[in-house]
Amino acid sequence: MQVINDKTCAWINDLNSRPNYKVLSKNEECEWLIVGAGYTGLSAARKLSELHPNQKIIIVDAQLAGEGASGRNSGYLVDTTLNDGFTSNKDLYNYKKKTDIYRLGINAVKKFIKEHQVDCDWNEAGKYFASSKKEDKKILINFSNTLSKLGFEYNLFDKKELSKKLGTSFYDSALYTKGGILLHPGKLVRAMIDTLSKNIDLYEKSQLLEWKKYGGKIFCKFKNNNIITKKIIFCTNGFLKSLGIKKNYNFPITLTASMTRPLSDNEFKSIGEPKEWGVLPVRPMGATVRMTKDRRVLIRNTAEVYNSFKMSDEVLKKRSLNQKYGIKKRFPTLADDIIESSWSGIVSRTRNSSQIFEKIENNIFVAGCYNGSGIGVGTLFGEQIAIMASNETSDEISIIEKSNKPTWLPPQPFLNLSVKARLIYERLKAYSDL
Ligand SMILES: Cc1cc2nc3c(=O)[nH]c(=O)nc-3n(C[C@H](O)[C@H](O)[C@H](O)COP(=O)(O)OP(=O)(O)OC[C@H]3O[C@@H](n4cnc5c(N)ncnc54)[C@H](O)[C@@H]3O)c2cc1C
Repeated sequence: MQVINDKTCAWINDLNSRPNYKVLSKNEECEWLIVGAGYTGLSAARKLSELHPNQKIIIVDAQLAGEGASGRNSGYLVDTTLNDGFTSNKDLYNYKKKTDIYRLGINAVKKFIKEHQVDCDWNEAGKYFASSKKEDKKILINFSNTLSKLGFEYNLFDKKELSKKLGTSFYDSALYTKGGILLHPGKLVRAMIDTLSKNIDLYEKSQLLEWKKYGGKIFCKFKNNNIITKKIIFCTNGFLKSLGIKKNYNFPITLTASMTRPLSDNEFKSIGEPKEWGVLPVRPMGATVRMTKDRRVLIRNTAEVYNSFKMSDEVLKKRSLNQKYGIKKRFPTLADDIIESSWSGIVSRTRNSSQIFEKIENNIFVAGCYNGSGIGVGTLFGEQIAIMASNETSDEISIIEKSNKPTWLPPQPFLNLSVKARLIYERLKAYSDL
């Protein structure tokens, strides 16, 4: 496995470069090693430094910190995800457990940005679950019943109302939930890096290659040096399986997204000057589309099993073309060459969409697998796994521990075959909304 940075993501390209990063250049010994510096790892480091100000804490990342999925996602901090109605109280109870965790995730991010006065283009704009297909309205009505039972505020909108709000007449119906937040994912993760306290050593472009437990300590091998640590927390999300962590319970999925340049005044006027908005698809494989604060259009409409950690330029170009059509369908008057950047990112999935939060064995911990909710849940899980690893407890941990555990996955090649078949099936069902 090789994890490398690229320069393709618009969110990351918005940020100043960080020339003074440190690479692991000598052998180290520490109390705490965190592997992976995205929302999860950085939040774990922040919490550990509060709990153990006098202990040595190291966090490593194979690429530049924050430039994995955390710097390249679509920026929806979600309060709800779409579930198509429930037939039993048990299902409703399970959905409530999920939304309880989303609420804690939003609170964790809110607390972080308040404490550190972070500007990450935070906008409590809510979000739309929208579809162009008339028959999907049934799904939205079912979903609205679930939301009513759980006390969430929502509105159902028809084509005409949506066209005014979004500046496109593509969608037939939508359910709007008030609680979602739109933000700049790159600015958020950069703030987590910039505010790391002095007792944390961050080593970047330093990939953990192998690790083993021996005589009560954990030996970690990097390219030229080693780290010996008492406790380790794995926060590598889409890369958990490649490090052998919970490998029968999670698998990586590669997503791609594209962002346009900012719309010109005339282009923006031609679509009715909508306020910033975010649309999530009704069908799992449909497109996520955002109008950003600075009038850029973001689209993510692929999710696939990709056998390498760096998508080739050729494949990325094909995905970008696909995204150009997605934008054209929604905004036919915009120029053909309006996409400014296209990128891929890796996330981790479990079979039953549950998250991973656990002590794997003495002194070894892991948090990950958030599907489309990693901004909030990753921040929350990072902080809480640090508390758990410190042998402490919290109300949040008791809520997290009530959630369903990931279920066992079939071995290869059956796993890839079944995931691929499922993705193709879901993609066909969402075809008109790509
Ligand atoms: C295109 C896209 C859109 C998304 N949209 C949303 C959204 O709108 N809302 C939402 O909440 N979530 C979204 N997600 C998911 C979200 O980005 C992730 O759930 C979240 O970033 C996970 O954070 P993390 O810190 O656990 O993992 P990551 O940010 O992936 O960080 C893991 C880090 O581990 C490092 N690493 C891996 N292997 C090693 C190793 N061997 N040694 C050292 N370091 C290693 C990687 O370099 C990486 O930086 C999206 C993801 C993508 C890709």
